[in-house]
Amino acid sequence: MIDTHTFLLALGIGNVAFAVLMAGYTWGGKPNPGLRLWMWARIGMGLSQLLGWMRPQGLALPPGIEGVGWILAVSAEVAAYCLFFGFTRWGRLLLPITALSSAVVLAAGTMGASHGQLSTLVAGVVALFAAVMAWILLRPRRFSTRFAAGLRSASPLQLIIGVNDALFALAVAWSALGGITGDAPFGQGASHEFAYLMGYLLMIVNGFGFLLLCKQKDDAEMARLATTDFLTGLPNRHAFLERAEQARLAAQRQRRPLALLMIDIDHFKQLNDRWGHASGDEALVVFARTARAVLREHETIGRLGGEEFALMMPGTGLEGAVQAAQRLRLAVREATVITSGPSYTMTVSIGVVVLDPNEDLSAALARADHALYAAKRDGRDRVEIGQPELRRA
Ligand code: GH3
Ligand code: MG
Ligand code: MG
Repeated sequence: MIDTHTFLLALGIGNVAFAVLMAGYTWGGKPNPGLRLWMWARIGMGLSQLLGWMRPQGLALPPGIEGVGWILAVSAEVAAYCLFFGFTRWGRLLLPITALSSAVVLAAGTMGASHGQLSTLVAGVVALFAAVMAWILLRPRRFSTRFAAGLRSASPLQLIIGVNDALFALAVAWSALGGITGDAPFGQGASHEFAYLMGYLLMIVNGFGFLLLCKQKDDAEMARLATTDFLTGLPNRHAFLERAEQARLAAQRQRRPLALLMIDIDHFKQLNDRWGHASGDEALVVFARTARAVLREHETIGRLGGEEFALMMPGTGLEGAVQAAQRLRLAVREATVITSGPSYTMTVSIGVVVLDPNEDLSAALARADHALYAAKRDGRDRVEIGQPELRRA
């Protein structure tokens, strides 16, 4: 048997403590907007629970007021999830349901509904909102927003929180049904005690869980920023070299070829001087888009710096790599860079090598660079193959 009245006090204190913790975490920073709202939801929830605990102590409260607090707080939690997952039109449904259910509870309280009836009403709405939270977290992939797809929707963390939400929704719905069938809610009874236990679990799992979800999202964004070239969206030098090294080890293990291409835009300085730096930037973006379009999925192109790029092609031998290089060269010639004045085109020079079985990455890159230099020297807009004899140099 659980003393649910004392339990309410513990829940209230716990939720307010979580809100204080989150206030400290978000203080002075730029937290996810969902986290701010979540913090307010926790405060609302905690205060409503504390009010519910105080009512039997003789506190004169308008009837149903703590029930409305519950509804507003759980609705704010749903809104926090919607903000977090990037939903845009959530307010259209959530706000009217919240306003309507709050008004119904207040009206029922004023018209003399019993505490048990009010609690049943509130439990029904809370169960609905908790079920919505569970759905948001556990929803099938095809409903995912872009961010959720990035997180691989229903990650283990989402799964844990979502299942907890679903259990809470079921427990509260059961408790509401108990109220309808005469088992007084907010009194004692199995369904009611179960709802309280699930509420306690929800406080812990959701409280930490949402914080961890935000942290996971921030970490993923930091990792993305650290590995991506801001202008072109391609992997930056560091990320490319890391991936290339992994590809080299895999190629060595599987005894498969790995082609490496160094690409440099021709006379880029002149393009900059003639069309302006901003247009030069646009030319880099056009090049990146063009290259991506001609590459296959497992091939990676990265921006090494300035107007210099590198491309790795796992499983491709010299002949295939030269063909791909020519395809890329011709595609770049065809691509136009739009300016406020006349549009223009550009060309690239490419150096191609296939890694020797025991060659390290820097030696292969040096060979490809040397081939690129030869392509420049021999007139640009060309593809040159790296010299094998340089391998042992
Ligand atoms: P080459 O055909 O021999 O490669 O000549 P180039 O003019 O392309 O090569 P050079 O190395 O002389 O000049 C590269 C220029 O690229 C110089 C630099 O100002 C410009 N550049 C480097 N990074 C950026 C960038 O992010 N945006 C723009 N617009 N220009 C850049
Ligand atoms: Mg250049
Ligand atoms: Mg260059």
